[in-house]
Amino acid sequence: MSTLRFHAVKASINRKPLKIKIDKRRSEIFGSNVFNEAAMRQYLTKTALNSVLEAIEKGTKIDRLVADHISTGMKEWAISKGATHYTHWFQPLTGATAEKHDAFFETIGNGLAIEKFGGDQLVQQEPDASSFPNGGIRNTFEARGYTAWDPTSPAFIYDDTLCIPTVFVSYTGEALDYKTPLLRALQAVDTAAVAVCKYFDKNVKKVSASLGWEQEYFLIDSTLAASRPDILLTGRTVFGHHPAKGQQLDDHYFGTIPARALAYMRDLEHHCMLLGIPAKTRHNEVAPNQFELAPIYEEANLAVDHNTLLMDIMQKIAKRHNFTVLMHEKPFAGVNGSGKHNNWSLSTNTGVNLLSPGKTPMSNLQFLTFFINTIKAVQTHEELLRAAIASASNDHRLGANEAPPAIISVFIGEQLTKVLKELETVTKGKLSPKEKTDLKLNVVGKIPEVILDNTDRNRTSSFAFTGNKFEFRAVGSTANCANPMTILNTIVAKQLMDFKIEVDELIDKKNMKKDDAIFNVLREYIKTSKAILFEGNGYSEAWEKEAKKRGLSNNKTTPEALKVKMDKTTLKLFNDLGVMNKVECEARYEIEMEDYILHIQIESRVVGDIARNHVVPTAVRYQNILIENVTGLKAIYGDRFKDLAKEQMALIEEISQHIEAINSLVTKMTEERKVYNKQVNIEKKADGYCNKVKPLFEEIRYHCDKLEIMIDDELWPLTKYRELLFTK
Ligand code: ADP
Ligand code: MG
Repeated sequence: MSTLRFHAVKASINRKPLKIKIDKRRSEIFGSNVFNEAAMRQYLTKTALNSVLEAIEKGTKIDRLVADHISTGMKEWAISKGATHYTHWFQPLTGATAEKHDAFFETIGNGLAIEKFGGDQLVQQEPDASSFPNGGIRNTFEARGYTAWDPTSPAFIYDDTLCIPTVFVSYTGEALDYKTPLLRALQAVDTAAVAVCKYFDKNVKKVSASLGWEQEYFLIDSTLAASRPDILLTGRTVFGHHPAKGQQLDDHYFGTIPARALAYMRDLEHHCMLLGIPAKTRHNEVAPNQFELAPIYEEANLAVDHNTLLMDIMQKIAKRHNFTVLMHEKPFAGVNGSGKHNNWSLSTNTGVNLLSPGKTPMSNLQFLTFFINTIKAVQTHEELLRAAIASASNDHRLGANEAPPAIISVFIGEQLTKVLKELETVTKGKLSPKEKTDLKLNVVGKIPEVILDNTDRNRTSSFAFTGNKFEFRAVGSTANCANPMTILNTIVAKQLMDFKIEVDELIDKKNMKKDDAIFNVLREYIKTSKAILFEGNGYSEAWEKEAKKRGLSNNKTTPEALKVKMDKTTLKLFNDLGVMNKVECEARYEIEMEDYILHIQIESRVVGDIARNHVVPTAVRYQNILIENVTGLKAIYGDRFKDLAKEQMALIEEISQHIEAINSLVTKMTEERKVYNKQVNIEKKADGYCNKVKPLFEEIRYHCDKLEIMIDDELWPLTKYRELLFTK
């Protein structure tokens, strides 16, 4: 009998939900472990406080002397909350977060010690980070990198440690993390959007990008998860026959949350509150044991930090509930995968959401300007946007059930499609007063009413407008949102800059009125962005054909998708907008390709190991039982055994065929790996892993999954899908 599997199943069945006692209201504890403005007011001098607030609002530098005051205040606050250590918390390109804890403690001679935390330690640190991926940057330029405080994201306490959000850069200034380019992209979109806002409102001084992510995940009993080597090592199941019941009944979606999962969520949300993560929504997702957590949206940089922090604490809190969180985009074949919808919008310091239709025709023209420019940006850079969400794990999800395809398209809903159609017929050149009035009253003026129409019917478009925001749905559940957010904000910034130039030109050279010029430019944008608009749902062959005709990219694999990052136009785009220079772009490309190869390599080894060490030996054992049975029948019944053992003998043969196929396929896969491991060209290596190694996974899986349904359940060593998915 397969002891580990049955032990795991037994342990999981007997589990009770943890009792989570929370006696305070959320509003009372919200942000109490965050060094936010309220805490700063209490612990900082006026000069120090103003200096931080100014740095947050205007990006000004903090003076060294003032930094000493800030660090002292921050330390006092942290110690009052029980913290003993501090760390520079940053997001290296591995996808995880990194931290190295130092104690506040310092000796001062004569056997005495004090708690110390100076401005130096707050502002800058030099982690021994030689093992973080850097795509060659630090080898070529400087041996070391340093972390520097990002005051726009507040410090917080987790466990006993004061965590200071930082950027991670090389000594020559190249970004080695996710945050640095994001901050630069947010700056770029701020500048570009403010310039465009001036057409409508001279008071606009700052535009911030907002992000509301929706984190999907699976919760699997930790003992069950630990019984599967593939889950342990790759975060997904590489084998497993689909269960008799899957998600066909749709009985999980928005259903009652199982008691153990609910206890976990309550615990998790409690920690979110302490850390100032505004968790708002929780519900079951479509697949069994799949859930979602969504916060109230925030300024994009903060939202990114909160999501990475959340992913980290999700795992930590899961431990005491005996759960393993599967963040992978496709943990189970044939079952819905997990995404992380990125809801995105732009808003001004005057409190206007630029992607929300307003009350007057003028504010609606502003809305249309930002709405159409976003569509145009996606149209121009669709391939880059696809690259923004490329990863080995997301490849499994894109194009599968209930997931967006690898083709980027924009969904805007029926009503706004109509509005664009009408705007397309606007006269070229100056508009007559009648036309303008008519437009303002009957087209632009009517938008607030039409928008009430629910635009969220389409769940699988890769980029959808949902009333007052765009929702980038192709983002994978394991992704660091900084990457897609950097790219999205960069392309929108670029588009808004181009728009401003074109409108100004019409005003200056053609002597047009501002409104006329805007209408004229928007009309042309609508005409040239049509290819990206698609109202259909998810993946279909027909859409694939149609998209090809329209000239849209359809890069199904990560190595294919990433190539555009090295295009001259891409390098120029990032460089011109000050988001990333060529060296930084190249480094990231290399890291992402490397990461892809490593993932496929690990999966391939896991596939080979499980097939050879678990599946084949089990098949042989079962076959021996059958052989024994046949021999016995022959001994008792003589020649009649041929009739009596017909089924058994057929099974014996079939098992042999599967074993043979598995062995030769695993050998072939290992040989392919050997070939590409020698390859020094990273693109050729990634292509090899993608097109020669990875396709064998499915072939090997086919035979292993067949054996799973043939072999005595008692012998099967791998915890089955039904046990993983339906244990609550
Ligand atoms: P769903 O997409 O599941 O129907 P919602 O659309 O209500 O749910 O919200 C999903 C996420 O979008 C939430 O995180 C929410 O805070 C965020 N969101 C709502 N409005 C905006 C906005 N203007 N900009 C960015 N995110 C937003
Ligand atoms: Mg949504």
